[in-house]
Amino acid sequence: MTGAILVLNAGSSSLKFAVYPVADDKKPPLVRGKIAGIGSAPVFSAHDRTGQALRWDKGPPLCPDTDHDALIPPLLDWLKIQIGDLTIIAAGHRVVHGGRDFDGPARVNDALMAKLDRLVPLAPLHQPHNLAAIRCVSRAVPDLPQVACFDTSFHRTQSPLAQMFALPRELTDEGILRYGFHGLSYDYIARTLPSHLGDRANGRVIVAHLGNGASMCAMKGRRSVATSMGFTALDGLMMGQRCGALDPGVVLYLMQQKGMSAAEISQLLYERSGLLGVSGISNDMAALQSSAAPRAKEAIALFCYRAAGELAQLAASIDGLDAIVFTAGIGENSALVRARICDHLLWMGVRLDTAANVRNAPRINAVWSEIDVLVIPTDEEAVIAQATRMIKSGVSGRPSPG
Ligand code: ADP
Repeated sequence: MTGAILVLNAGSSSLKFAVYPVADDKKPPLVRGKIAGIGSAPVFSAHDRTGQALRWDKGPPLCPDTDHDALIPPLLDWLKIQIGDLTIIAAGHRVVHGGRDFDGPARVNDALMAKLDRLVPLAPLHQPHNLAAIRCVSRAVPDLPQVACFDTSFHRTQSPLAQMFALPRELTDEGILRYGFHGLSYDYIARTLPSHLGDRANGRVIVAHLGNGASMCAMKGRRSVATSMGFTALDGLMMGQRCGALDPGVVLYLMQQKGMSAAEISQLLYERSGLLGVSGISNDMAALQSSAAPRAKEAIALFCYRAAGELAQLAASIDGLDAIVFTAGIGENSALVRARICDHLLWMGVRLDTAANVRNAPRINAVWSEIDVLVIPTDEEAVIAQATRMIKSGVSGRPSPG
């Protein structure tokens, strides 16, 4: 098969894209980029395989009111120019929610879209944008095969117990379950683990995906056993703007005593909490690290304290721990956060090599550490590209790890 695979990851205010030649989709993409600030102040950034910056000079002006729908057709035209002789033969999309039905990527058709539409209430902030991008590509290139790759699929290997809330049975049956997210990132890490850990890759591993959104996944045999995010991407770790796990009594108090509406509470928990809420300064870890304000320091301390606690809880689900993997923006780049989290885990036998940690080296544990500690850059787009190529060529299901 020749041609190229387009990967799109449409968020509420951003559109990430990448194009992989079908012939070598395990290598970096030909083009990778992002349009951020959609709906307010759009900023385009992209680079080619060598890391050279590419400009949006052929496209229409990016105005504050340009939405995803208006952006996708010119983006497709721009990409065609960048990839020269290659033709885009399929598009793969990140879709946040696949519900209980999908344990792997699926080819887009009307029946699939109807199922995914029904999942919008489970992920109202993300799913509509993901589905809108699929529909927009369908309108622009009606015959192009498209594939949906779900953030929830990787966690479908979990036991019923790990997915259940302690709620009345009928709510569980209705689908109020712990679905988990960031599955494409965990899938990528699971596939690359053997090259870092050899046989230990199939042992007890916890992956900490620490970005603006943050979660952890406990794996055994490179399959998800438990994860910190639950029914929504609000649960678990403290995040950039999201609160993470919270006593549900706080929500009742906000409603009953403070008279807040569901919309106000949603905005509070998704957009005004986490690092931003605690520091009062920023949701951005790098910005907080360079601030001398006591509340910035307290926000970082709480982030690390909560992360270590979650990690210890997840270790119980896999009967102990052989390795920790840090990934995503904070996990890959913040030596301070990694060191602080690991300081809380000294009792588990975690020992860091300080110099390796400061260099963001692939392996950062001291030689006498009982637990391996790795830093592995994640690549969700690569997972989507491989899945799209497989589905396009008629192979169903998730590519096997490794
Ligand atoms: P998203 O969830 O939006 O994909 P990313 O994975 O890009 O997020 O992570 C963004 C986070 O990574 C931000 O909080 C940012 O400050 C943090 N980050 C990136 N580089 C560094 C760095 N060198 N030191 C500390 N934090 C960093």
